[in-house]
Parts: sequence; structure tokens; C-alpha cells
Amino acid sequence: LPQSAPRAMRVRLRPEVLALPRYVAGKSQPGAAKLSSNENPEPPTPAVIEAAGRALEDANRYPDMGAILLRSAIADHLGVEPDQICVGTGSSGVLVAALSAVCAPGGEVVHPWRSFESYPIAIPTAGGVPVPVALDAHDAIDLGAMARTVGPRTAAVILCSPNNPTGPALRLEDVRAFLRQTPQEVLVILDEAYIEMATAPGVGSAVPLLGEFPNLLILRTFSKVYALAGLRVGYGVAHRDLTAAVTAVSLPFGVSSVAQAAALAALADQGAVARSVRLIVAERERMLADLRECGYRVPDSQANFVWLPADQSGPAFVRACSDANLVVRPFPEGVRVSVGRPEDDDRFLEVARAFRGA
Ligand code: PMP
Repeated sequence: LPQSAPRAMRVRLRPEVLALPRYVAGKSQPGAAKLSSNENPEPPTPAVIEAAGRALEDANRYPDMGAILLRSAIADHLGVEPDQICVGTGSSGVLVAALSAVCAPGGEVVHPWRSFESYPIAIPTAGGVPVPVALDAHDAIDLGAMARTVGPRTAAVILCSPNNPTGPALRLEDVRAFLRQTPQEVLVILDEAYIEMATAPGVGSAVPLLGEFPNLLILRTFSKVYALAGLRVGYGVAHRDLTAAVTAVSLPFGVSSVAQAAALAALADQGAVARSVRLIVAERERMLADLRECGYRVPDSQANFVWLPADQSGPAFVRACSDANLVVRPFPEGVRVSVGRPEDDDRFLEVARAFRGA
């Protein structure tokens, strides 16, 4: 066939799709420590790897679409009923499904900003309109401002605790007060991707609030403390009518059999989870203390990363890290550095100290 010039693509894309911000994934650099994606620096345990391997032997079969074993185990772990759990392709998958279930065209979704970069992508994808609300002076979610922004067109509100990329978490009492103020018709999505690592007094999972608030959907993930980011499995916890609606709009078979088996095995070994949490929290506290001692003004972090606001970091800081074989994550408002292995964190703290001239 004669070669012709490639033709222009003329498919009528939705205008909001053309306008979507792009997700910038944390970069990696050969031979460098990746402190750019808030992953667990340690691999899954041998038992998890073995369970995933066994599941692979049946990979010719579709996974259990209802993910019954996994949902039952999660429900047991949290003290809720299995029909209160819905699973998805990472908690990001559950997020898009949940928004799709409530966003009629033009429906507004109030979300904090700066926060997880998926929010302004997922909202228009689901047909909603993002309504960002600025963080407070401590880089924390401003619940008062969020409550004042909720109005008659609000379909959903997203909260993120601890907040990615800045670190602070919401106090449970404040979440309860916010929920009491919010109309029951509005879906409140509380993203708890990092909640296992939160240790501050008064901070913790909002699962105990579910009985009081049937409009609350809590998102959790196996990508962080459970060390399974590569397998893409997350879940939502909510009133059974809400999880049923989310499941109805979810991709069928969205969690592979390998991911289900690995997540089940990871959940069963809470000893390993507790050890991982202890290590991460100790490293985080060490990083925060060291940075503050050098003179950095860093917000509290209840997650596995620390946040250096732009006036104390910027592109030169990112370059200094890169020169020391450390990949960190720049944002317009600052630089986020994930907790890594202790030796990588040591190297990062040396770079940060030198950068400050401290
Ligand atoms: N929520 C927050 C706040 C996150 O930071 C992340 C991961 N970066 C996610 C959700 C997505 O997690 P998952 O891998 O479960 O899609």
C-alpha cells in the first residue's frame, strides 16, 4: 500500500476531557532511591508473594467478581459487614466509580487543594465539576471553608486524611462535626490512603462514624502500608446501599485474582503491617525533627512523606536531591519526599542540611 501522511484525529472528544490536567507519576532514575511516589520501600512478604504466585496458576480463569473472600476479610478486620465493602482497581478506581454514581452533568464536587492530584482528573472524568478549596495556613484541610463551599449544586465532597502531599490529618471530632453540618444527600468521600500511619492524638480512621453517617464513603488502599502498589487494589467502606451503587458502576473484574490473593495474604499478616508502620513512623518523625532542626518550616505529617513548601525548596532543591541519587516529587507549591529506607533517608537529610547551609 502507498505510504500516506498520518491523518488528523477528528473524533469529537468531550471538551472537559481535552481540558483535563495530566497525572504526573513520581519519576524513577536508574540506581537512585525513589522517594517520589509514597510507596512502601520494602517489598511484600514471602507469604504474600507465594499467595500471588499460586493465584497465577489459575490465571486462565476470571477472578471472583464479587471478591467475596477479600471483602469478608476486610470487613472482619474493620468490624463491619462484607456488604459494606466495595473493591476496585486501587482506591483510585473506587474514587472514579463513586463519583460516577453521584455526578449528574454539572454536579459540583468540593475538594481540598493542594491535595491528591487524581481529584481534579477523576471529577470531570465522572461528569462532575471540580470546586477546589484552599488549604489553611498550616497546609492542612480547612474544614470550615469546605463546609461553607457546600451548596445546592454539591454532589460530593472529598476529604483526604492524612492529606497528600502536605501531610496533616483531620481530627476525628472535626470530621464528625463536618459530617453533621453536611446535608445527608451529599456524598462525603474520605480518602484514608495513609491512615494506618497516623499517630497524632484524636486522629484515626472514621470507620466508627459510618453508622451515624450513611452518606460517608471511606477509601482505603493496599498500595501504601500493605506494599502492593503494583497490584492495584483498593476498597471503599460505606453503607451497603452506597457500596452497591459504587459496585454497579465499577469495571467488572477490576481486581485481578492475583491482586485479590495477595491482598488477602497481606491483610492476614497484621504483625508484618505493624512492623512496617513502626519503621515508617520512626523514619518520618526522625525526618521531621531533623528538617526542623536545620531550620525548615515543615508541616506536621501523619503519612509516609514530608512536605517542604516552595519557599524552602524549589527546583534547586530537587536538583540537589537528584545529584545525590534521590528522586523526590516537585509540585508548584513545594516538594514532597517519601519516607524511604533508613540509609536513603540519611542521604536525603544530609542533602537538606547542606542545601540550607546548616
Ligand atoms: N489517595 C491518596 C491520597 C493517594 O496519595 C493515593 C496514591 N498516591 C491514592 C489515593 C491512590 O492509591 P491507589 O494506589 O489505591 O489507587
